[in-house]
Amino acid sequence: RSVTSAESGALERAAEAALRPKQLADFVGQEVVREQLSLVLDAAQGRGRPPEHVLLSGPPGLGKTTLAMIIATELSVPLRITSGPAVQHAGDLAAILSALEEGEVLFIDEIHRLARPAEEMLYIAMEDFRVDVVVGKGVGATSIPLELPPFTVVGATTRAGLLPAPLRDRFGFTGHLDYYRSEELHRVVTRSAQQLEADIVDEAAAEIASRSRGTPRIANRLLRRVRDYAQVRGSGRLDLEAARSALEVYEVDAQGLDRLDRAVLRALCTRFAGGPVGLSTLAVSVGEETETVETVVEPYLVREGFLTRTPRGRIASPMAWSHLGLQAPEAAAG
Ligand code: ATP
Repeated sequence: RSVTSAESGALERAAEAALRPKQLADFVGQEVVREQLSLVLDAAQGRGRPPEHVLLSGPPGLGKTTLAMIIATELSVPLRITSGPAVQHAGDLAAILSALEEGEVLFIDEIHRLARPAEEMLYIAMEDFRVDVVVGKGVGATSIPLELPPFTVVGATTRAGLLPAPLRDRFGFTGHLDYYRSEELHRVVTRSAQQLEADIVDEAAAEIASRSRGTPRIANRLLRRVRDYAQVRGSGRLDLEAARSALEVYEVDAQGLDRLDRAVLRALCTRFAGGPVGLSTLAVSVGEETETVETVVEPYLVREGFLTRTPRGRIASPMAWSHLGLQAPEAAAG
């Protein structure tokens, strides 16, 4: 029987959960956010009150969910998890809010994707700890205000700029997570290898780290693939040779770009002469959703200098052309 994609998604999530740091002290890198957050948490604990609401923003896989879990653990309070797309109706959110216990942390992933009525209900709840529950339908409908115990919302978003101002203003603290440096990912890989009881040499950990797109989730995933490779085709030891060969099998190149990254760059250079081209046109040409290209692929390509965003569209840099082994036209090369 083959494994369905839903099952492999669940397996991947389980593998990921096993590698999550549980305390702020074990969370690698992001010194600025870590210090800011630890002040917020310590101060709240000193006052014996739940901390103010926390917004975490940044590209996927950098540790927003992990931080939300750490916040609840550090405060020794329960954590409830939901997401913008999971809350279809304001009623769903009312049910979640009215079940919260005092001090509980409510984590809302992809908070920028909440439907408008839920969003409005949320910011009232965050400000006044109150939710208006609508009873009945049509002209007979009445709304009954329900007091909520104090709680803390931890919101996560890939793009803080998408949040409407009234919602954004309800967060007392916003932490921005940025891509990790290679040395930081090196520590993530070493720590994860220990937890997996994998025998890894330092050069292999460094190789994985430098090819993980600045993202711990990817570093942990590549580590597991290198472990597979070493087990099946090597000595079981995760050495540099196993790391390089496994990364080649999984089509991760020397700069850490994966298949989709290269497909986007290739389409930009070969189909659109290096741009400028609009984001959605580019996404369609590689058969991906616009949001995936915008939030997963682009930020890293921009950061590494392969691509620039301009008001007229996306443009490939000279580096993109040379990375693909293509000759840049005069204008791009100049
Ligand atoms: P998404 O928003 O896409 O769910 P995320 O930002 O919430 O992504 P997480 O799920 O928290 O990302 O993290 C992904 C994986 O990376 C987890 O397995 C976690 O163990 C690991 N990880 C993330 N940040 C760190 C860190 N600072 N130190 C060690 N491991 C980390």
